[in-house]
Amino acid sequence: MALHLQAKPVAAVLRAQLEKRTQQLQEAGILPRLAVLLVGDNPASIAYARAKERAADRAGISFRLHAFSAQATEAEILERLDALNRDPAVHGILVEWPLPKRFDSARILEGIAPHKDVDGIHPVNRGRLFSGQEAFVPATALACIALLQHYQIPISGRHAVVVGRGPTVGRPLLALLLKENATVTVCHSRSGALARYTRKAELLFAATGHRHLIGAEMVAPGAVVIDAGLSEAPDGTLAGDVDFASVEPIAGAITPVPGGVGALTTLLLLQNVIDAAEATLRDQTS
Ligand code: NAP
Repeated sequence: MALHLQAKPVAAVLRAQLEKRTQQLQEAGILPRLAVLLVGDNPASIAYARAKERAADRAGISFRLHAFSAQATEAEILERLDALNRDPAVHGILVEWPLPKRFDSARILEGIAPHKDVDGIHPVNRGRLFSGQEAFVPATALACIALLQHYQIPISGRHAVVVGRGPTVGRPLLALLLKENATVTVCHSRSGALARYTRKAELLFAATGHRHLIGAEMVAPGAVVIDAGLSEAPDGTLAGDVDFASVEPIAGAITPVPGGVGALTTLLLLQNVIDAAEATLRDQTS
């Protein structure tokens, strides 16, 4: 039976660290603050923003929702981003995606100052990450690595296969795995038969949003399987990219969905907010 890489114990450690760091910042006169921009009334985006608010409250981080109607203009959003970029009391800014189709998403995300881009999606942060420099990194990619580190699963020198080259998981994960000295293969929708690659993985990461894409025949016995995918099954339940029931008996370790990668992402986003707030403290004292 595979070791189950549950988020719960990792979350407990992270939460304690965040609370301690928030307290230290408050003692230095800084209240970490996250601003979230929400455009329109997409129920999933509203739910994600509310979940962030609850987690921020719990961690002692100030949260402010900037809600715009679906009729808001790109200029209005850019104007608000500009004001938030210049506000020294705001440390992290993020936009709930997707925006209504008529928006130029690239322009909006480039409107966020890189040093407040706690989602790690501004081109400056992406470039820094791939250059091996300090950068904000998307929380879901961080969650994959945090799970491995917590359970003391070695990364260095191992062959990692990442399925998915998307902006929030696959691509940043490639950079993080290289930083940790793994040898990395990245697969995508044009890779052809995925099993050719996935069966060679010592560490297998799935990040496609394609329900149960990875079955038992695609996994080497004893492999560590990290499932970052999230999609809704026809019955409304959440499903991962990995067919847990068939893969679990042959894997060495595996993350559940829910209760694995996804359960850590909000905390790691808040960790990015704390990092941003600590950077302003360093700037003040240097
Ligand atoms: P994305 O933009 O959703 O792109 C999906 C990636 O998967 C693309 O690279 C695509 O290939 C690849 N793909 C899709 N179907 C495939 C198939 N049948 N075989 C091989 N590759 C396939 O990527 P993302 O933004 O990085 O997000 C990835 C997934 O992570 C999301 O869909 C979501 O399920 C999950 N996610 C979870 C959380 C969380 O908190 N748990 C947060 C964010 C994202 P091409 O590039 O060739 O199109």
